Amino acid sequence: MESCGVFGVYGVRDAASATYRGLFSLQHRGQEGAGIVAADGQHVTSFKGQGLVSEVFSRASCRDLKGHLAIGHVRYSTTGSTRIQNVQPLVVACVDGIWAVAHNGNLVNAARLRSMYQEAGAIFQTSTDSEVLVHLLADPMYRSRPRRVARALGELEGAFAFLLMTKSCVMAARDRFGFRPLSIGRLGDAVLFASETCALTQMGAEPVRDVAPGELVVADETGLHASRFAEPGEHLAQCVFEMVYFARPDSVVFGRNVHQVRLHYGMVLAEEHPAEADIVIAIPDSGSSAALGYSRRSGIPLDFGFIRNHYVGRTFIMPRADERVAGVDMKLSVLPEVVKGKRVVVVDDSIVRGTTARRRVSRLREAGAREIHMRVSCPPTAHPCFYGIDFPTPDELIAGDKDVETIRRFVGADSLAYLSLAGLLSPFSRPQDFCTACFTGEYPVDTGGACAKGALEPDLRNLELPL
Ligand code: AMP
Repeated sequence: MESCGVFGVYGVRDAASATYRGLFSLQHRGQEGAGIVAADGQHVTSFKGQGLVSEVFSRASCRDLKGHLAIGHVRYSTTGSTRIQNVQPLVVACVDGIWAVAHNGNLVNAARLRSMYQEAGAIFQTSTDSEVLVHLLADPMYRSRPRRVARALGELEGAFAFLLMTKSCVMAARDRFGFRPLSIGRLGDAVLFASETCALTQMGAEPVRDVAPGELVVADETGLHASRFAEPGEHLAQCVFEMVYFARPDSVVFGRNVHQVRLHYGMVLAEEHPAEADIVIAIPDSGSSAALGYSRRSGIPLDFGFIRNHYVGRTFIMPRADERVAGVDMKLSVLPEVVKGKRVVVVDDSIVRGTTARRRVSRLREAGAREIHMRVSCPPTAHPCFYGIDFPTPDELIAGDKDVETIRRFVGADSLAYLSLAGLLSPFSRPQDFCTACFTGEYPVDTGGACAKGALEPDLRNLELPL
């Protein structure tokens, strides 16, 4: 249900601490909540809460989670609301033991599966789409059959990178289109799973390979076992927005280093949309790599026009508009000494609602910039995502119904230009393996039953209970 971060480990002495470190490296993927579940082969313990990893976990709470296997999750809600029940990993007691589930993605058939189980009497504890998986696992139809997890996963449609855990094994699975990233790493004899490789390399682990689309990988005391639960799609649908914005630049995602892809985007942007200017500046950190590429290709020197306060997180993720604007002002300050009297190219990765871009342009003007040429390292974001990136509703997407000239006027720049779709796909040898739905409106998997944010919230006002 979410565009989040997942991390798991099997085979280290203090798996919870390793998971804490892994989640720390994935913090950019979700700031609303964090949780860790650990096990020692006998007992399963968990701890979770709302907020940043460092806010949720103290030394003590990590020490209480014992054992050599663990999974963890950082949360950024795309469907369920911000509340503690929705913080993952979900932990449930099934008739045959404890299951823990951590999900990154968005299941498009969750609403249908959920109402099917509810009709049959099941009670759901969260308003996340991820919870349907635990009902499938507990369902006698799957529970009593071989390859139960594979069968349950086979029922799910949409985007998912799942980590699952029992008291004695950790499992990782990725949907057959490979929407969301999920990598496997090795640290000595230990096996690690992470949404992004940055979480593996920071602890000295070696990234080995990605979990393949449609693959289930199990780590237990007998080693690592891989099998297929679904045939991969003819074309994959890897999320190109991971490359544009979501992933960290030091990660290798879908086989490519994210910084280098963004650098390339900046170079193509400079070729497609040159500007007469004195300096190139980035909106840090999201526009930094592309700004460097723009500068290199155009020959216009790069400078630091904005300074970022690193104690403010991702402002976009803040749920309320007024919080976001205050967050943007606190996060970035302009250096008038750099921009005053200059013709400035300002590079950002994307414009979604347009409110932060407008704010940044007006700060540049206040600081005395003579001309402002905004360049965006992706095409106009015109369509909602049903596969796990939290974009606002279609009418809040500024490019949903406005052309580039109207957006330029709204943000207040002297010129505005976006990377083309061809440019966006130009780094990849198989462009057909990427989902570009947020730019093109072409959805690779039917979104008929997709969940809007809040769609699975129980509407208690309308419940009539015959007693
Ligand atoms: P705005 O145009 O005001 O909605 O903000 C766009 C900025 O938010 C961009 O500069 C991105 O760096 C960032 N951003 C874009 N998409 C997302 C997303 N789905 N989640 C979090 N941040 C995003």
